[in-house]
Amino acid sequence: MKDVMNKALLFDGRAMITVWSMPRAAEEGARLHGMTDDAAEAYAKVLSVTAYMAAGLKSEKDRLTVIVEGSGKAGRIVACGEGGAKVRGYMSNPQASLRAGEQPSAMIGGEGVISVIKDMGMEQPYRGYGKVVKGDITSDFAGYFLLSEQTPTALALDAQFENGKCLMCGGAAAVALPGCGEEQLIVLEDIMRNFTDIRSALENSTPRALIEEHFGHFDPVYLPEITPLYKCTCSRARTAGMIKAMGRKEAMSIIVECGRIDVKCEFCGKNYSFNAQDIDKLFKEE
Ligand SMILES: [Zn+2]
Repeated sequence: MKDVMNKALLFDGRAMITVWSMPRAAEEGARLHGMTDDAAEAYAKVLSVTAYMAAGLKSEKDRLTVIVEGSGKAGRIVACGEGGAKVRGYMSNPQASLRAGEQPSAMIGGEGVISVIKDMGMEQPYRGYGKVVKGDITSDFAGYFLLSEQTPTALALDAQFENGKCLMCGGAAAVALPGCGEEQLIVLEDIMRNFTDIRSALENSTPRALIEEHFGHFDPVYLPEITPLYKCTCSRARTAGMIKAMGRKEAMSIIVECGRIDVKCEFCGKNYSFNAQDIDKLFKEE
């Protein structure tokens, strides 16, 4: 099954339904960090909701960062997204796993903070905050959308891993847009109950077919299909820029001490190594 996100407007543009499936992107993200299946499931849900939010960014140049800092075993989970649902991320404890009988929510924990930073080319980025309450990602993010973005969202998210393989990762989200009436809202909420078991829904069907099955009778207007992707934006040039920002003095002191500067990308694990000559050349370019 390919990774895909489908969006459709309902009720003459007064509501929007999004359904997506991204097991390949999630598996790639988990593989790069050598995650356990338990860690990967929590991480994949955060990547998944980040892909959904990134797809809602107005411009391809806009970016967002989602940080889930819970009290659970996973520690901090960071995910970044760009327009077009390109995501990348990492977590503090990729080796964390659940004990027998322990709830998956123990990964995130029962308290903590969700922070969302959206850089939309304005002078100041948008910052929103939410609370980790249940540690299940789904209801915690529904709470974030409601309280911080004032966007009541019926949200379903899930992810399943087995021996490093992602069997399922995706979700569904329905939002009421301006002009959505009380009756339409009730219909929307009612239909969204069918997505409670999003795991088996996406295992047995595609996002487009699910929208068609549950919302087809409302003449959905489909928006262009999006392909979620795990994509790191690191490069040697970008890393060199970071070293430059550090300043010559600081850079040279590391060279003297270690013989070279190694910068490992947190998102994909790739290592960029700079020796004395590289550093010398870098600062001569100015
Ligand atoms: Zn990278």
